[in-house]
Amino acid sequence: MNYTTKQLADLTKSQLIGNGGLQVTTISFDSRTLYSSADTAFIAINTQKNSGEKYIQAAVEKGIKIIISEHQVAGLQDITWIIVENSLKFIQQLAKHHLSLFNLKTVGITGSNGKTIVKEWLYQSLFTDFNTVKSPKSFNSQLGLPLSLLKIDGIHEVGIFEVGISKPCEMEILEDIFPPQIGVLTHIGSAHSSNFVDEEELTEEKIKLFKHSETIIFNGDNDLVYNKINEIYSCKNLISYGLKHRNDITITNDPNDKSEPLQIRYFNDEFQLPAQQRDEATLRNALCVVAVLKEFGFNFKQIVDKINTLKSVEMRLESVNGLRNNLIINDSFNLDLDSLKIAYQFIKEYNKPKNTLILTDIVEGKNAEQLYGEVVKITNQQDFSKIILIGDEIINYQNDFKAETYTFNNVNELIDSHILNQIESELILLKGARKFEIEKIKNHLELQKHDTVLEVNLNAILHNINVHKALLKPETKMMAMVKAYSYGLGGYEIAEFLQHHHIDYLGVAYADEGVDLRKNGITAPIMVMNPEQHSYNIIIDYNLEPEIYSFRVLELFTQQLAQKGIQEKYPIHIKLETGMHRLGFKEGELNELTEKLKHLNVKVASIFSHLSIADVPEGKDYTLEQIEIFKKNSDNLISGLHYKPIRHILNTSGIVHYSDYQFDMVRIGIGMVGISSSEKIKKQLQGAVSFKTVISQISTVNAGESIGYNRNYRTKNSTQIATIPVGYADGIPRLIGNEVGKVGIAKKLFPIVGNVCMDMMMINIGDAAAKEGDEVVIFNSNPSLEEFSNYCKTIPYEVLTSISRRVKRIYIKN
Ligand SMILES: *Cc1c(COP(=O)(O)O)cnc(C)c1O
Repeated sequence: MNYTTKQLADLTKSQLIGNGGLQVTTISFDSRTLYSSADTAFIAINTQKNSGEKYIQAAVEKGIKIIISEHQVAGLQDITWIIVENSLKFIQQLAKHHLSLFNLKTVGITGSNGKTIVKEWLYQSLFTDFNTVKSPKSFNSQLGLPLSLLKIDGIHEVGIFEVGISKPCEMEILEDIFPPQIGVLTHIGSAHSSNFVDEEELTEEKIKLFKHSETIIFNGDNDLVYNKINEIYSCKNLISYGLKHRNDITITNDPNDKSEPLQIRYFNDEFQLPAQQRDEATLRNALCVVAVLKEFGFNFKQIVDKINTLKSVEMRLESVNGLRNNLIINDSFNLDLDSLKIAYQFIKEYNKPKNTLILTDIVEGKNAEQLYGEVVKITNQQDFSKIILIGDEIINYQNDFKAETYTFNNVNELIDSHILNQIESELILLKGARKFEIEKIKNHLELQKHDTVLEVNLNAILHNINVHKALLKPETKMMAMVKAYSYGLGGYEIAEFLQHHHIDYLGVAYADEGVDLRKNGITAPIMVMNPEQHSYNIIIDYNLEPEIYSFRVLELFTQQLAQKGIQEKYPIHIKLETGMHRLGFKEGELNELTEKLKHLNVKVASIFSHLSIADVPEGKDYTLEQIEIFKKNSDNLISGLHYKPIRHILNTSGIVHYSDYQFDMVRIGIGMVGISSSEKIKKQLQGAVSFKTVISQISTVNAGESIGYNRNYRTKNSTQIATIPVGYADGIPRLIGNEVGKVGIAKKLFPIVGNVCMDMMMINIGDAAAKEGDEVVIFNSNPSLEEFSNYCKTIPYEVLTSISRRVKRIYIKN
C-alpha cells in the first residue's frame, strides 16, 4: 500500500491533524514489533481487554511520526494524527477500499483447522506461475485480514487469504471487506469455540464467507457441512473433496498401503499421486490443493509435480544458546519477504547489542530485482553489524547492504571459512530457504550438542496464562511467579517473554534471582519473597521490591534505606499470616504495623497472603476462612494507611476455584506450565514443557540376565534393552528404576529397568521397532508431567525444579 496521510483521512472521513503529505506504506498495530519506522503509521487498536493507546508513547519512542487513534494523546511533539471513530473499523474500511483498486483473482480460506497449511501450500504451488500475495502467518482475524489485504499491490495476479472468526456475526463483516471469488472451506472441527452454540451455528457462520463466491471448494466429509452447502449454495459451482467416496475429489485406493501411490479420482478422471505422508489431515489438505489448482487450469501432471515439491509448513522460531555466548535464532519458516519481516520483528525483542544476519537466496517467484531491492531495504532498516549472504543470486546485491558483508556460494564454504568462529556475544539470525540446509550452520554454532533437552513452549505458557485470565475481570492484575529459575524452566527467557506480553508483576524467591533478571534487561516490577538480611543492599540497587513479613525485617530494611540515603518512598509488599503458618504479620500486630508504616520511608505497593489448600474441594472451608481473615485484616490496614495498595491472595488453584476473591491481583505459578487442579481447566491448558532424549544404544539380552548396578532387575525373556543418557544427576529420582517409572518411545510407554544410574538408565523395549538415535520422552504428553510425578511419588513442582541445570533448555515460539 502507499497512501498519503491526507488520503487515509479522506478515504475514511477521519480527522487529520498535522502533515497531510506524509507517505504511509505500512500500518503497524504492535509497538513492540515495529521493524522500521520509515513510512510507517502506528494504529492504536482498542479491544475489550486492552487499549492500544497505552502503547502510542512506545511507538513514538521508536521513531513513529504518524499515529492513527481514536483519541489524541497530549504531550507528543511533531506527530501527525489521524483521529478515527473506531480504529478497527478504520483499518477494515481502508482494506475494503484497497482491495477494490485491484483486479486480481482471490481465494479465501476458512475452516477450523488447516487454513494456514492450505494457504501456504497453495502459495508454494502458485507463486512460480502467478505473482501471488498471501496472508502472513495466520493473520486471519478482524484485524489480521485487513492488514493482509493491505499488502496487495499492482503487480499481484492472485491473492490467497485466510479468514478466521471466533464469534457469531464476525463473518459478515469480513465477507463485506473480502468476498473471495474462490471460497475454500477446510476441516470444521468438533472442538468448536465456546462462543458458538453448536457445530451447526459454527458451520452456518463460516460459510457466510461464500455469499458472493463463484466457486466453493469444501471438505465434504462432514455430513452437516456437506448438506448445508448443497442446500444453501446449490446454484454455485460446488466442488467437494475428502476421504468419503461421495466427494467429487477423493482417494479410491487404501491410503494406508504405502507401497502404492494414491489413486485420486477427480470427478470422472483418475490420476496417481505418490505421497509419503498419509495422515488424514495431510491427505485432506492435499486433496484441497488439487481442487484449487485444477480451478487455476493446471493439468494432472502439473499438479502432481507441484504437490511433490511442497514442503511441510513449519512455523517455529527456535532460540538456542550458541558457543562463545552467542544466541542463535533459527527461523525455519519458509523464506519469503513476510517471514523475513517477522523474523526482524522477533529479534528486536531480544535487545542484543550486536546482531549478525545469515541470509540465503530467497527462492521466490519472479522479479529478482524488485524482491532483493525490498530485502535490502528492510534489512538496512535493521542494525546488523555483520551480514553473511549465501547463494548465487543474493550475493549480487552485496554492495547494497549497509553492514560488514560476506558472501558465500553455499553453507559449507561458510563453515570452512572460520568467519563464524569470530562472532562473540551476539545474536545470530539464521534465515534460509530449505535447499540451503542452513541447519548445518546451526549445528556448527550450537553450544555442546546435547541429546537431552527440556523444551519449553513459550506460546503454550502464554495460552495457559490467557486461560486463567479468562476467569478474571479484565482489570485484575497478574503476577507471574518465576521463582526457582521459573519452576526449573529457565531464568530470564521466561521472564522476558512474560514482560513482552505485559505481565504486571514478577515474583521471585531470592534477591539473586531478581538481580539476574534485571541484569538481563527485565524492567517489570519484581517482588522478592525472601529478602535475606545480607541482600537488602542489592535489592535497593536493583530496584527490587521486598516482601515484608515481620517487624524485624521492616526495621532492618528501612534502616538500610536510610543508610543509603534513599529519599523517595520505597515500594514494599506486606505479607499477612492467614492460616499457612509460614511467614507474615498476625492479626494482633496490625495496629502497631499501621502506625509504623505511616511514619517510615516506604510505600505499601501491595498487601497479600497465601492459601494453603486451594487445590482440593475438602479445603473449601479453610480457604474461605483464610480469605475472610485476609479481607478483614487488609481492610483494617488500608483504613489506617489512607491509600489503597494492591491486594492479592490467589495462586493458580485459587484463580481456578475462588475467582470471586481475586481482589486486585492474582499470582500464577504452576498453571503456566499447564497443570491444574481442575479437570475442566486442565483440558483447556497446553503442556508447556517436554523433557526428551534419544536412545544411545539398543542391545538384545537373553532371558534371566541382570541389568545395571546391583543386578536388581532380571529379564523374564529375551528382549531388547535401550540405554538412554539421562540419570539421577539430571534430576530423575533413583526410586523410579526397576519398573516403577516408564518413558515414551514412538507414543508407547516402556518401563525403566535396573537401577537408575548417575547419567544413564535402561529401558525394556521388548520387540518394539525402535532404532538407536530415536527420540525418548521422559515426559510431555505420554507420559504426562503428572504421570511422571506420580512415578516419582511427588508433585510436578518438585519434578520440574529438580531437573538439573546441565539439561539444556530450548525455547520455542510460534
Ligand atoms: C509459588 C507461589 C505462588 C504460585 O503458586 P502456584 O501454586 O504455582 O500457582 C503464589 N504465591 C506465592 C506466595 C508463592 O510462593
